Amino acid sequence: MEIDGVKINTIEVRLPIEYSKAELEQKIARMVGSNLFSYDIVLKSLDARNKRDIHWKIRINVFKGDSKFSFKGNILDIKFRKRDKKICVVGSGPAGFFAGYILQKAGYETIIIERGSEVAKRSKLISKFEQKGEFCESANYAFGEGGAGTFSDGKLTSRTKNIDKEKNFVIESYIEAGAPEEIRYLSHPHIGTNNLIKVVRNLRQKFEEIGGKILFETTLQDIVINDRRVVAIETAKGKIDCDYLFVACGHSAYDTYRLLLGKGVKFQNKAFAIGSRVEHLQEIINLSQWGKKKINGLKAAEYKLTHKATNALPVYSFCMCPGGKIVQASPQKGLSIVNGMSYYSRSSPWANSAIVAGIYLPELLNKDITPNEALDWLEQKEQVFYELHNNFELPANIIRNFIEEKRNNRFPETSYSFGLFDYDFRELFPDAIYQSLRKSLTEFSRKIKGFEEGVIMGFESKTSSPIQVIRDENYLAAGYTNLYVIGEGSGRAGGIISSAVDGIKAATTLI
Ligand SMILES: Cc1cc2nc3c(=O)[nH]c(=O)nc-3n(C[C@H](O)[C@H](O)[C@H](O)COP(=O)(O)OP(=O)(O)OC[C@H]3O[C@@H](n4cnc5c(N)ncnc54)[C@H](O)[C@@H]3O)c2cc1C
Repeated sequence: MEIDGVKINTIEVRLPIEYSKAELEQKIARMVGSNLFSYDIVLKSLDARNKRDIHWKIRINVFKGDSKFSFKGNILDIKFRKRDKKICVVGSGPAGFFAGYILQKAGYETIIIERGSEVAKRSKLISKFEQKGEFCESANYAFGEGGAGTFSDGKLTSRTKNIDKEKNFVIESYIEAGAPEEIRYLSHPHIGTNNLIKVVRNLRQKFEEIGGKILFETTLQDIVINDRRVVAIETAKGKIDCDYLFVACGHSAYDTYRLLLGKGVKFQNKAFAIGSRVEHLQEIINLSQWGKKKINGLKAAEYKLTHKATNALPVYSFCMCPGGKIVQASPQKGLSIVNGMSYYSRSSPWANSAIVAGIYLPELLNKDITPNEALDWLEQKEQVFYELHNNFELPANIIRNFIEEKRNNRFPETSYSFGLFDYDFRELFPDAIYQSLRKSLTEFSRKIKGFEEGVIMGFESKTSSPIQVIRDENYLAAGYTNLYVIGEGSGRAGGIISSAVDGIKAATTLI
């Protein structure tokens, strides 16, 4: 293979779990028949198909010769030109931040407004919430600098196709800002909350160094429109004029969604998924996936489950967090929403995952509904979960009892901070969802030994948005000449990478 005119050998090696750099290099030397080479790891994945022979599979690009070769792949290149146009971006999550960063790099005058606090303050307030239960509307797991993904597992997988250039830009930006280099090549890369906090702060500093501005604790309250053109936005701190508006508000900001709908921005219903979180002792998952409770050199085993029972909705695991923690990710008082996070070490004794059923609301409810009604339906469900005890305690059951439609009052210790109480989930979910979850949990308990011993808890409602913005061929919100709705809130992306890439694509389309 030739890359940039340089002859490259691509080889695959297999190595034991705890291999050294010297072992890797000896192996390469043997395979290419030379001690003079430089190399880049392209892909590293764990092969655990045979539990008695778990090993790494590593794909490597090798350049034979004494000069250093490094190939970073196809990466987005942004050329600077002074443009004298003002951009306002709402939201500093992956979509908003990367759109703003790219536009500032390209020569626009960019300002990002973020309703939440900067990341150090957010971090302190989240710790206080975990310890004392004091909820803060401007600093929680959903809102604040870096968006929903900051206090997460930081998984960087994405199923979106043809996004190499943009994805590589995001990955290289994260590495420059302090993320581990292995995210460049691991088949299941993750950053972890402790690294994300640092990465988000360093990226903001890079944005500011090139002239970008970011205003925290500043909420978009209104949009001033003149003849299908945004001319300014209103915040409690004043009006900001702009030539283009990028709204990257995520899918937790019901007020912002309703503002957009009220301004005539067109959305349509889309399929999404809801359910609950399950948690197990990580040892159970390790044993099932690796045949051992622990393997030195590996952090914690993952799983991915899908099932579609006859006459039932498809059910799948989502956002699995090995060695992680279940968190209360509500963006506002009075709602209860669970999600999962982890630190880079993934060393907690628990494994959690969402188990969700795919739905399309007009079908589930058997009637036409407007996007506004879809939001109302979802928000009302999140409210019901909160109002059961008027706090963040979660309705829960042991998975075995959930399957057998029994109740129990004793729960093992879990990672969730605000307590569990026994509840009948039949009262919480529409029957189609409840029965589909039961059938699939039965199947998952066949696939993973001990799965039925786990705990199922709370309401997982944020796998993706229930509504989707209608865009024209220029990425613009249909009918508008300078309004972009991007990221997870657009209903056209989900997860850190695809949201960041959606923001970048909108920005590069404008450029
Ligand atoms: C606990 C948790 C764990 C997760 N784990 C993962 C994971 O491991 N991997 C993964 O890929 N994805 C994960 N996700 C999902 C991921 O975080 C989102 O898909 C991603 O952050 C969406 O990016 P976004 O920029 O579109 O929106 P968001 O990240 O939601 O950012 C939106 C931002 O807009 C701000 N905002 C909203 N309304 C306004 C307004 N009116 N004015 C000003 N600012 C406003 C919010 O405060 C927020 O900061 C997780 C999410 C959570 C909550």
